[in-house]
Amino acid sequence: MSVINTTPMSNLDEFKALGLSDDILEAIARKGFETPSAIQRLTIPHLLSEECDIIAQAQTGTGKTAAFGLPLVQLLSARRTVPQAIVLVPTRELALQVTQELQSFNTSELAIAPIYGGASIEEQLRRLRRGVDVVVGTPGRVLDHIRRTSLDLSQISHLVLDEADEMLNMGFIEDIESIMSAMTSPHRVLLFSATMPDRIRALAEGFMHDVEHLKVESQTLTTELTNQIYFEVREGDKLDALTRIIDVEPDFYGIVFSRTKVGVDEITSRLTERGYSAEGLHGDISQSVREKILGKFRARTVNILVATDVAARGIDISNLTHVINYSLPQDSESYVHRIGRTGRAGQQGTAITFISPSEMRQFGFLRRDIKADIKLETLPTPADVVAIKRNKIKEDLFQIVQSETYTECAPMAEELLESYSPEVVLSALLRLAFNNELSESNYPEIRSINVDRKGKSCIVMAIGARDGYDCRRLVKLLKRECGLADPEINHVKVMEDYSTATIPFERARDVVQMLNGLSDQGPIAEIREQVRGTKQGRAARNSRRIAKSQEKAVTKTDRKARSAGKRQAEGSHSSEYKAPKKGRDKASKPAKPASRKLSRREQKEQRRRNR
Ligand code: ADP
Ligand code: MG
Repeated sequence: MSVINTTPMSNLDEFKALGLSDDILEAIARKGFETPSAIQRLTIPHLLSEECDIIAQAQTGTGKTAAFGLPLVQLLSARRTVPQAIVLVPTRELALQVTQELQSFNTSELAIAPIYGGASIEEQLRRLRRGVDVVVGTPGRVLDHIRRTSLDLSQISHLVLDEADEMLNMGFIEDIESIMSAMTSPHRVLLFSATMPDRIRALAEGFMHDVEHLKVESQTLTTELTNQIYFEVREGDKLDALTRIIDVEPDFYGIVFSRTKVGVDEITSRLTERGYSAEGLHGDISQSVREKILGKFRARTVNILVATDVAARGIDISNLTHVINYSLPQDSESYVHRIGRTGRAGQQGTAITFISPSEMRQFGFLRRDIKADIKLETLPTPADVVAIKRNKIKEDLFQIVQSETYTECAPMAEELLESYSPEVVLSALLRLAFNNELSESNYPEIRSINVDRKGKSCIVMAIGARDGYDCRRLVKLLKRECGLADPEINHVKVMEDYSTATIPFERARDVVQMLNGLSDQGPIAEIREQVRGTKQGRAARNSRRIAKSQEKAVTKTDRKARSAGKRQAEGSHSSEYKAPKKGRDKASKPAKPASRKLSRREQKEQRRRNR
């Protein structure tokens, strides 16, 4: 009975219980793993003893590589001829990472070769000729080698698709199918992924048989430490919103997510133009540049990383203060995935999502899916930004005064004071050093979307599904015939006999008139109700943030009294609709709007006739 050894032994026992051999356990001990992760508990015994294909899903950073790697190393024995297993990954960086991880517990002395694009093909050819057991590759380059006949997949017993969702998203599906058709011997397909949208699942199951799903529920744990908020901002105001957020945070260290490469480039260059320390990462960035950028971000010489979802995969950087969803992620799982990068290691992080009017609907679905609470906040105002910058200057000044590192400037100060008063010199110096940064009027205005909600009217139209309308067609009609813009049309509902929509109050009369002008069978539209606007008070959070930074500042400034207004719950402005009374409905028989666009004169004429 040993009392001394209990801790380490009992931990490795958990790995042992999964069916791993003593050799592998030694490697695990060397790596310093203590207990298997949830996905490892699920997959390792399965892979060691069963035969069917698997779809394994668990969040990033949960050890999926070892989840397939450990059993793979145990199951294969070194032959160093043609590959027995192939692991496909979406990016070069991941090919290297996965190779390294496999190598770290490669007790079977398997020859493991990374095969990815952008590296010398000659070296890879030599490597393959020498004989390999496991290939870790990107689909494009692997296919290259198959076509050159330098890669023989006829002996493959295991195919692993790692980060499968991204690979399928990135359009590798055809490449993967071509690769699979080169695999002529019976083999298992093991699919590992952090997210599993239905579309991808259906695609994957198309080329798998007898599939077992193993899923570790994404834990609210990762989002628990993340303060989740959103701002309603117009697309065109997003960059200004972003810079305000960065400006009011003393130590902003975050990733800004954009859905597209073009978006990443644009955000990055606009931030850089404004003097922010930002770098962009996406699929077109070469491997060497990518590594340099990540190095700088790790070292915090760059504090803003702008990235696509794919490019951010496999980046093992935590402790971010912020994750910004500049554009919405494609689904709720990607959202959880993105924001899981903040709030790690017990530190609170903030996830911020920008919602433009056209993203509201999708955001609605996303919020419903995610159990965590995402709160609406108001953006810091220019006054907030300037107040925080001032405090920061005072703080920095204090530091310099304390450390007495200013002495070499003293003679110049004396010289200046001979000609000007201290106030004048200081003011001028501040202007010189900070340019326009300290003047509120130099911050571009960000129009609040809430203002638009003020004074909305709900209109009802006697056209519905029966007349061949759906939401899309109705919006099209309102845009085409009434000159409304997309964001002006909200809460569109199409019933069998009638439809409703909210539009800006000041346009409502006009719109109703135009709609009625389209029909020659009497009026088809009317204003039902004016929707009350929401009046939003100043966000309590902003004033708290300022108060905090003021506490840190050396000199206490007058604290502006800020009243924190009540925040209207999202959606409370929308009003439900009662169906028009049956009798009235019959009386004003729904008339069909003219299918062709009427000229202004014709419309006028019709309106006159209708009166
Ligand atoms: P994923 O593929 O799920 O994103 P990785 O396989 O890249 O995660 O693993 C993330 C990190 O966690 C790696 O550094 C890996 O070595 C480490 N790791 C994996 N399994 C364990 C474990 N059981 N205990 C401790 N660390 C682990
Ligand atoms: Mg992985």
